[in-house]
Order: sequence, then structure tokens, then C-alpha cells
Amino acid sequence: MKKVVKFGGSSLASAEQFQKVGNIIHADASRKYVVPSAPGKRFSSDTKVTDMLYGCYELAVSGEDFTQKLEAIKARYQQIIDGLSLTISLDGEFETIYKNFSGKAGRDYAASRGEYLNGIIMAEYLGFEFIDAALVIRFREDGTFDDETTNELLAERLKDSCGAVIPGFYGSKEDETIVTFSRGGSDITGSLVALAVKADLYENWTDVSGFLIADPRIVKNPKAIETITYKELRELSYMGASVLHEDAIFPVRKAGIPINIRNTNAPEDEGTMIVEGTCRKPKYTITGIAGTDGFVSITVEKAMMNSEIGFCRKVLQVFEENNISIEHMPSGIDTMTIFVHKDVFEDKEQQVISGIHKAVNPDHIELETDLALIAVVGRGMKATRGTAGRIFSALAHAHINVKMIDQGSSELNIIIGVRHEDFKNAIRALYEIFVETLI
Ligand code: ASP
Repeated sequence: MKKVVKFGGSSLASAEQFQKVGNIIHADASRKYVVPSAPGKRFSSDTKVTDMLYGCYELAVSGEDFTQKLEAIKARYQQIIDGLSLTISLDGEFETIYKNFSGKAGRDYAASRGEYLNGIIMAEYLGFEFIDAALVIRFREDGTFDDETTNELLAERLKDSCGAVIPGFYGSKEDETIVTFSRGGSDITGSLVALAVKADLYENWTDVSGFLIADPRIVKNPKAIETITYKELRELSYMGASVLHEDAIFPVRKAGIPINIRNTNAPEDEGTMIVEGTCRKPKYTITGIAGTDGFVSITVEKAMMNSEIGFCRKVLQVFEENNISIEHMPSGIDTMTIFVHKDVFEDKEQQVISGIHKAVNPDHIELETDLALIAVVGRGMKATRGTAGRIFSALAHAHINVKMIDQGSSELNIIIGVRHEDFKNAIRALYEIFVETLI
């Protein structure tokens, strides 16, 4: 059994957190490949080391004195080293970083040092070998990620390793320029390592006990999802739920490697398993609820629209020409409605309206703003009658008017449009009916 374990920033923010991580790794001999993030926040008003590095590098680029900021970063690491009673010194590393910052080595180089230094400490603490991600994660000349070369380099380098630490978030081009993934990108590194070593499991350790059924900022203490499929995860992530970097899914999904989201602060919790497919019945009819606010709907009305061939295409073309992505498109006999993100649409609204007039000569165009979309997602819905009924009775009881309904033919999700002011109450009502009232 081979496992890749990735630890997020809050799991590695202090010596105390490092000790928890050490215990987790030593508790299971199959946890051989470790991917650390940079130290995150120790308390809510704290600053992540990655953000400290960005700030420090900005000073360097503008020619200001950055020594104090760099000292503060060094102090964060020194506290961890001292707290773990290690004897390594990062003096040499910080001299190099100082030189490279002065030489304007790049913003990505600056940010990557967070993971690089944490990796050195982690390897020393665990007694594992340290592998600089710059040697095994490859980007092309144009800055795009090179998956094939990376897979070869990682597989070759790790094939005889009995325990390795590979820092997350960055890699390099062939000319050694450091490049990072987007924020939260250590999740991607973990996934790439899992693919390369053909791991049985990719454990992603964070500070929550898995992917939650609903947003904890809206629903008090929501339960965690036990098992979720990649498809369900995609639906929920699209609607704003986030626990993993989106690009972390593809490498492991391709190889059928499950991801287990775990909590460093509660290792006894089983967390959430993310899998390709499962015969396990979900505990509730739904797997999760997620929603996003800030949509506008544009309803185009024209008598006999249903018999006018090419009507929808012409309307959609107007959005395409204005470079606006369409989120949803429910339709009636003589109406079609298009949901778009308000911030993308706002600046172009008059061009779009006049474009639709020119394209299809409608009877009427109506705009409605401040709408929210909520997705109720679950593979269990397919086999259960009355799901839509329960959704609407829950919303009716909560005095919420449903503006739009959209059920994908896969029966994996039902999307509901509501007004902005009903958004949170709608999510609470749905959680209550499906999770708290187990009928
Ligand atoms: N340290 C980076 C960030 O804060 C990458 C990561 O944590 O995954 O985004």
C-alpha cells in the first residue's frame, strides 16, 4: 500500500502542528510521500508565509529595504525549528534568498520559497529525503504545465525512495526559472505525485473533517460528506464549494486513485472519500448543497419563438460575441432565459440588449438582477422519488419564491434560482429537510 499525503498550510503553521503531522505520518508506514504547503495562519488575524513572501518581494522589486520583512519570515521558520528541537540552520538558504530577491528572481520564485523551506524542515523532522520540486515538476517555456515530462521525472526520481518530501506549489522550466501553480496549488503537486508513484490513496490533510454538506458560514455545524464522486464534486465546486484546488482532480481521477480529505486536528475522523464511482448508498438523498450569488437573468420573449429555427443560436451568439459565459439557460415556449454572472455582464449589458434586438427582433427583453443559484447535488436522487417535491415544499414553508428550476438529465443535480435575500434561508431550509429531517 502506497499513500501520498499532502498537508495544507494550517496543518504546518507551527511546531505544534508539525508534531501532529509527524504523528500522523509515523502512524502508518504506507504514508511515504509527503507534500507540504508553506506555513499558514496560526490564528485568524495571522499572515500566511506565502503572503509575507509576496509582500517582501514587492519591496525588493521597488528597490526598498526588505531586510526586516525577510527577517520576520525567517523568524517564523526558526520558531518551528526550535519548537521541534531540530539543529538545522537556514542561514545559508536565507542568504541565497536575499541575493535572489535583490536580483529580482521573480514573484513565483519568491512565493515558492515558502514550500521549499518548509519541505527542508519537514524532511529533517521525519528523516525522509528532500526532493526539490524544481527538479521534478516541469513547466514549458511558455509557462504552461508539462504533465508528461513531470510524470516521467517524478516516477524516475521516486521509484526507489523509501520516504520523500516534495514541496508543493512550484516547479521549474528547463532553464531553471521557478514557476508556481495558482494559489492553493500544493493540492496539484500532491495529485501529481500520487499519479507518478501509482499510489493507492491520496490523502489531503487540512483543518476540516472533510467536504461539508453545506457551507458552514450559512449552516451551523454541517455534517461532512462520507463519500462523494468526482462528478458530484465537480457540480458542487462549480457552484462555489471549495476544499481542493480544481486542477488537483484530473491527475488522480485519470488513474482511478481516490482522494481522502482528512483533518490534521482530528485524525480519528474518517473525512471524505472522493471516488470515481461507488456502490455505497449515500446516507441522505442528497450529497451536498452549494450556491453562488450575483447572477443576472435576461429573459427574451417572442410570440411563436418555438417555431423560429435558429432563434436560440442567434441569441447565444450575441453573448459569445461579447465574450460572456452563460451559466444556465431554462426556456419556455415563447421565452428563453439566460443566466450570467453580474460582474461580467454589467459593463456590456447595453451592447448585449441591442445585439439581441438586432439578431432576433424580440417582443420583449426583461432583466432581473440580484439572483442566486443553488445546486442540490446527489447520486442518490436518481433512485428516489419526490426529491423535487421535498425541495419545493421546504422552500415554500420557508416562504421562498423559486425563480427558476433546472434539472440536469443525469438527475445528479437540481438547480434552483432564488432572490439574493432568500439565498441563505433557502440553503438552510434545504439542509434541514434533507439532512436534519431524515424521513
Ligand atoms: N502556499 C500556497 C498558497 O498559500 C500554496 C498552497 O498552500 O497550496 O496558496
